[in-house]
Order: sequence, then C-alpha cells, then structure tokens
Amino acid sequence: MVFNAFQENTFLVWDETRECVIIDPGCEGSAEQNELTEFINNNDLKLVGHLYTHCHIDHILGNAYVFETYGLRPVMHRDSLPVFHSAGDHGKMFGIEVDGLIEPETFLKEGDEVKFGNHALEVLHTPGHVNGHICFANRDEKFVIVGDVLFRDSIGRTDLPTGDFDLLSHNIQNKLYTLGRDFTVHPGHGPSTTIGYEMLNNPFVKG
Ligand SMILES: [Zn+2]
Ligand SMILES: [Zn+2]
Repeated sequence: MVFNAFQENTFLVWDETRECVIIDPGCEGSAEQNELTEFINNNDLKLVGHLYTHCHIDHILGNAYVFETYGLRPVMHRDSLPVFHSAGDHGKMFGIEVDGLIEPETFLKEGDEVKFGNHALEVLHTPGHVNGHICFANRDEKFVIVGDVLFRDSIGRTDLPTGDFDLLSHNIQNKLYTLGRDFTVHPGHGPSTTIGYEMLNNPFVKG
C-alpha cells in the first residue's frame, strides 16, 4: 500500500495461515488508517508483527495506530533508536505532528528470523542510508523488502545524518546482490525490481 506525502510503500506479508506482518506502516490520518484496516479485514488477516526497516518519519507514521488497533509494539534494530527518538523533530520540519510514538521493547539484528504462519523473514543488517537499517528476506520465496537501501535504477540517499555511500554500496553488493539474480526486490518507494536487473542497470552500484 502507498501512504503519506512521501509515497511510502507499506508492506503486508502473509501466508496460507493468514498470519501477517506489517513492515513500515506509513499510514497518516484517518483515511489511510481506514484503508489499512479495511485491507486487513477484507483479506481476513491476523496481524502478528509490526516491523521497521528504518525509522525515517515516512516509514513510521502508522506507529501509534498499529499499536492501538492491533496491540503490537514496533520491532526494529537497536541502532535505529536515535533516529526513532528524533522522529518528532524530523516531522516538524515537514509540518507533520508525530506525538505519542510507541516504544519498541524487542530488537532485531543480522541473522534473526521473524516468524509468522509457516514462514519466516531473515534479517539483513544494511546501514548506509541510515544507521540501524535492516532488510527482510525470504530465500524460499525469493524476495527481499529493502526499505530505502535500493530502488529501481537508484539507491537510498546518503546525505542525511549517519548516511554513508561507501557503507551503503558495500552492503548492497555483499548482502543484496549475493542473494541471487532471481530475487524480487520490494523498495520503500517506487516500483519493485529484481537483483539481476539492478546488478546490470543500477547507475550507482554495479553488480
Ligand atoms: Zn529513509
Ligand atoms: Zn523513505
């Protein structure tokens, strides 16, 4: 689903059990909140996880709504905490109020598995766009949810605090391009792509 002024991609991942995790809930305001809940209800999904690739404001605007509606605290990498805690100030720069953020109580790190239904997502630690950034991969189904690390024909910005181009390109080459050319890549903005396409065509990081 595409939410908020930044056109952020919010992902719902589920399997045949209907258990579902939400990644980067960006819904802002009641219309987008209702759209999310209607989608969950219409597809008979049971939300069991509330995950963040990273804590830039556009990826966490649904924080309090997901907690209040589904009782799930956010789960993120521990290195994301400083950015999470500055989200209120960051929001003000864009005229967005983010009061009452719900704090995480558990954290993810490289190699962890997030289980739902009969499946799991593997955590890849990929800083470079921002500290604490993680991606969620499933090697059986051959997809990876990459937040703002890699986009179709582009990569994440590295001019924001804790951004680092060398680190980002190292992580793209060593953690994403090594997954396999046939992996589908679902970025935090814009259309999906594949590892093979980006290895060949990405103008910033070659495979
Ligand atoms: Zn970002
Ligand atoms: Zn973003």
